[in-house]
Amino acid sequence: MSYEIRDINLAASGEHKIDWVRKNCPLLRSLEEDFSKELPFQGIRIALSIHLEAKTAYLCKVLAAGGAEMYITGSNPLSTQDDVAAALVKTGLNVFAWYGSTEEEYNRHITKVLENNCNIIIDDGGDLVNMLHTSMRDRLEYVIGGCEETTTGIIRLAAMAKEDKLEFPMVMVNNADCKHLFDNRYGTGQSVWDGINRTTNLIVAGKIAVVAGYGWCGKGVAMRAKALGARVIVTEIDPIKAIEAVMDGFDVMPMHEAARVGDFFITVTGCAHVITCADMEVMKDGAILCNAGHFDVEIDMAGLRKMCSVSYEQRGNIMGYTLANGRNIYVLGEGRLVNLACGDGHPAEIMDMSFAIQALCARYLVQHGKELNEKLIVVPKEVDNEVAVRKLGFLDKRIDTLTPEQEKYLYSSAI
Ligand code: NAD
Ligand code: SAH
Repeated sequence: MSYEIRDINLAASGEHKIDWVRKNCPLLRSLEEDFSKELPFQGIRIALSIHLEAKTAYLCKVLAAGGAEMYITGSNPLSTQDDVAAALVKTGLNVFAWYGSTEEEYNRHITKVLENNCNIIIDDGGDLVNMLHTSMRDRLEYVIGGCEETTTGIIRLAAMAKEDKLEFPMVMVNNADCKHLFDNRYGTGQSVWDGINRTTNLIVAGKIAVVAGYGWCGKGVAMRAKALGARVIVTEIDPIKAIEAVMDGFDVMPMHEAARVGDFFITVTGCAHVITCADMEVMKDGAILCNAGHFDVEIDMAGLRKMCSVSYEQRGNIMGYTLANGRNIYVLGEGRLVNLACGDGHPAEIMDMSFAIQALCARYLVQHGKELNEKLIVVPKEVDNEVAVRKLGFLDKRIDTLTPEQEKYLYSSAI
């Protein structure tokens, strides 16, 4: 066993967090039970890079219960929880991650994971895949395939596949219905406001929330902003999404106009420089900015740091910046995913579904990976359905079943 974590003595607190997750993740619990009987991962080494907090830790334990040798790192320098990492090491898993890692440490931890010649890659945003295709190509031969958790990661994989540069099959977990319909929308919707609220301790009602991007995540963030009493402005580049936002009851305008009136700004586009220095210069004194999309590039943090000679830590996870016009604007969690840098990310019941898809897709790859000809793999419909059926059962909800007559009516050309 090997590891590189902050402090093994933090394990007890991490164990309590993981136990709480286990109690609230019935889907993963049922898979843990199945896997420990079937041992689908016996002899398989799994590399995993996902936000290293308690839900991810429980996924790792479920895969380990199925016989996997786990090599684990985080997927963002600010989302690793050191007590959770310690708890995983205490249970015998290999972990390389700590909170606040420098870029050099972050990359070293990814390298340490991949040095173990892993067979299955579970990635969130493409860091493992990227390293395997650049400086660690000698480890490619061990890989059967992998799974990608998030929208931006899949966009990157699609670009690699198009240029014929992707060397092994990757399952697009994010695109499963049981993932993005719930995780991106309801998960991001709730956890973004949880992160903002616990960090700022300010009222949302009566304020103006500007949501950049009206994709699956943006819809959730806007919906929950409205529920908290905010007036919501959406910014978009896609005319269809913009109409959707208007019909959902939100105002739509370019960012530079919204910049003048917003109180809270949340970027969730996967794009870069969605809020520019020119936008920040016209913001109101006290404006609060945060990001929920990939990486820390949606708000031009480098530009902001350069244009402000005065910056200061106002509260934990809140940096204040004084502009040349004398106004102060505030950025949460260094412009990284606010729900994970300033909170615990999505709720357990949401990650239960996302991670059930991950676990079932990992099993699918072990069983079928070598037969796959395509590089970008759609989550098999039976996996999506299995998760939905199990989830509905745990929610104690029942649905109707088509009668033979109805099936004929719907699907036969005879009528
Ligand atoms: P999506 O593709 O459904 O939506 C993105 C939207 O942003 C699109 O409608 C697009 O038109 C719009 N957009 C792109 N560039 C823009 C710009 N410059 N200005 C305004 N709008 C712009 O993607 P999604 O599933 O909503 O994911 C969005 C981002 O959030 C991705 O980076 C994804 O990886 C990340 N994500 C984060 C979490 C989290 O926990 N914080 C959860 C899921 C996904
Ligand atoms: N490395 C990138 C990853 C984007 S993260 C970055 O840090 O910018 C977006 C993913 O985080 C989502 O697809 C979601 O499934 C996942 N996520 C959200 N809450 C989580 C949680 N509590 N635990 C683990 N993953 C979580």
